[in-house]
Amino acid sequence: MFATLQDKLDSVFKKLRGQGVMTEDNIKEALREVRLALLEADVNFKVVKDFVEKVRSRSVGTEVLQSLAPGQQVIKIVHDELVLLMGGGEDNSLDLAAKPPVSIMMVGLQGAGKTTSCGKLARYLKSQRRKPLMVPADVYRPAAIEQLKTLGRQLSIEVFDSSSDQKPVDICANAIRYATLNGFDTVILDTAGRHQIDDYLMDELDAIKRAVEPREILFVADAMTGQEAVNVASGFNDRLDITGVILTKLDGDAKGGAALSIKAVTGKPVKFVGLGEKLDALDVFHADRLVSRILGMGDVLTLIEKAQATFDTKEAERLQQKLKKNQFDLEDFRAQLQQIKKMGSLESILGMIPGVGKAMKQMQGVQPSEKELKRIEAIIDSMTRKERADHTVINGSRRLRIAKGSGTSVQEVNQLLKRFSEAQKVVKQLQKLGPKGLMKGMKG
Ligand code: GDP
Repeated sequence: MFATLQDKLDSVFKKLRGQGVMTEDNIKEALREVRLALLEADVNFKVVKDFVEKVRSRSVGTEVLQSLAPGQQVIKIVHDELVLLMGGGEDNSLDLAAKPPVSIMMVGLQGAGKTTSCGKLARYLKSQRRKPLMVPADVYRPAAIEQLKTLGRQLSIEVFDSSSDQKPVDICANAIRYATLNGFDTVILDTAGRHQIDDYLMDELDAIKRAVEPREILFVADAMTGQEAVNVASGFNDRLDITGVILTKLDGDAKGGAALSIKAVTGKPVKFVGLGEKLDALDVFHADRLVSRILGMGDVLTLIEKAQATFDTKEAERLQQKLKKNQFDLEDFRAQLQQIKKMGSLESILGMIPGVGKAMKQMQGVQPSEKELKRIEAIIDSMTRKERADHTVINGSRRLRIAKGSGTSVQEVNQLLKRFSEAQKVVKQLQKLGPKGLMKGMKG
């Protein structure tokens, strides 16, 4: 995410950290580089100008110049101002407190990820114990209705029955009535998009807005399109007075411009971010966490939340017991891999740990890849239950069979078993040390 911006800011910060004494001149020089990095990331020109000025005026204050670590202070100011820029500290949660059914109108250009985001949002709301109804109101794009129906089937969430010969306003109004009669508390309206803003579309969206009075109008923006996304957001906001933004495709190689300027330009908060094509790839937006990631400080909070949501506490306790008794076997190892996989792509998990994102870039090829994990799993799957419980019984001919069965090579099987025995040895040693010994070992 935002790789170039991260690299550029990182090199500015490296220099800043090394400064024992700060002067107005070297602050100016550092900010010149910050400014270029932001412009290169496609951040809106005016936003950059205001931002740099704010950081400058705070940085040349005596509190910074006379502090013990002035470089660090400047970095902290950049961090804090970036968080403010993206709406940090403000409430960006969905406003769904009204009498049900409340409706959420999704708007945006074609291809931005509107329909996908409807599915993701419905899934999210269901996880919050709401009962959403999805409504296809895009009657122009031939596959749009069917696409939403498919998502509904995947998620076991009902999709309102509509067809392309109906008027979008009628579909939406009927859907609200249907929701009222059938106990749905939230209605998600998937409206039509175009390749660019046009009056006809805006009139239609405005008519829907007046007919259903949605609590939320969420503009779906494709982060990959940078400044263009910001301009289009402004256009939609002028006509519809949107309530928030869903920023999609942050998993791609977006430069960061849309994420950094959309709030400052439209005044409307980013409420969610899309991080992949899958339906679980939607995160509530936290400005501070995103900034920490951009500045390479990791995103430990998101990681912890993901871990808590994914890890089965019973399973964790079971494992701990097994570890205590020295019974950790390949079966447990596989269960661990599956838990990790549930949390998302390995790369994205590692990227959230402070320092690891950067380290990973430097050691390309050293970290286990997604593919490698799949192969490890395939190897373990090809073993018998007995072998998984005690891998020492696996002899030469069985290694060959396991390699064949898993579509890998004997070398890979050997390597896995070797690594696993080593890991087991480490676990044994740790057990011997006990918690106190472990602390001592870490300090030494
Ligand atoms: P719509 O025309 O706005 O309804 O767009 P769609 O929902 O059909 O999405 C267009 C394309 O973008 C599809 O291929 C989606 O899978 C993809 N897409 C949507 N959101 C994301 C996201 O957050 N990340 C990635 N990588 N792809 C996404």
